[in-house]
Amino acid sequence: MKKAIYPGSFDPITIGHLDIIKRASKNFDVLYVAVLNNNNKNCLYSPSERVKLIEKCTKDLKNVKVVSSDGLTVDLAKKLKCDVIVRGIRALTDYESELAIASANMKLNPNIETFFLVAKPELSFLSSSIAKEVASYGGDISYIIPKPIIKEFIHKLKKEK
Ligand code: ADP
Repeated sequence: MKKAIYPGSFDPITIGHLDIIKRASKNFDVLYVAVLNNNNKNCLYSPSERVKLIEKCTKDLKNVKVVSSDGLTVDLAKKLKCDVIVRGIRALTDYESELAIASANMKLNPNIETFFLVAKPELSFLSSSIAKEVASYGGDISYIIPKPIIKEFIHKLKKEK
């Protein structure tokens, strides 16, 4: 069975993330979407909230499972018996940081490969942080945030203000 893991902050999941999940899930028997608790990021949602939001958006994708972890991606990949890490690349800026992460992961566990999926051009400017910025000023985020979680997201931002 071919299993892969797609790790990230997903604070919250965007239509860009969802596109990577849909495309990657077609190429593996199981795709684990892993919410990683990154200490350097000041997140809007707790890891368990982020898991629930992803589950809501991926409930029709039968081979997608959502998990969370505090540790290293390669350790989680090994635990889940995944030999592929999936990441998305939007622009040159992503490429530089993604290369550093993939090289570090290769050093930590050379048996795990990183596969990059290139963002669809029309989705390549979408990010969780842009969604937060636009929504905090009342702008339209329907092209960034998946429909099932928009209401909840706007409510959460208002609550946190
Ligand atoms: P991280 O903090 O690990 O970068 P993110 O949630 O920001 O977590 O992103 C997770 C992964 O999804 C990264 O590989 C990122 O480049 C990719 N990604 C983010 N937004 C998009 C998008 N709009 N299209 C394609 N890939 C994306």
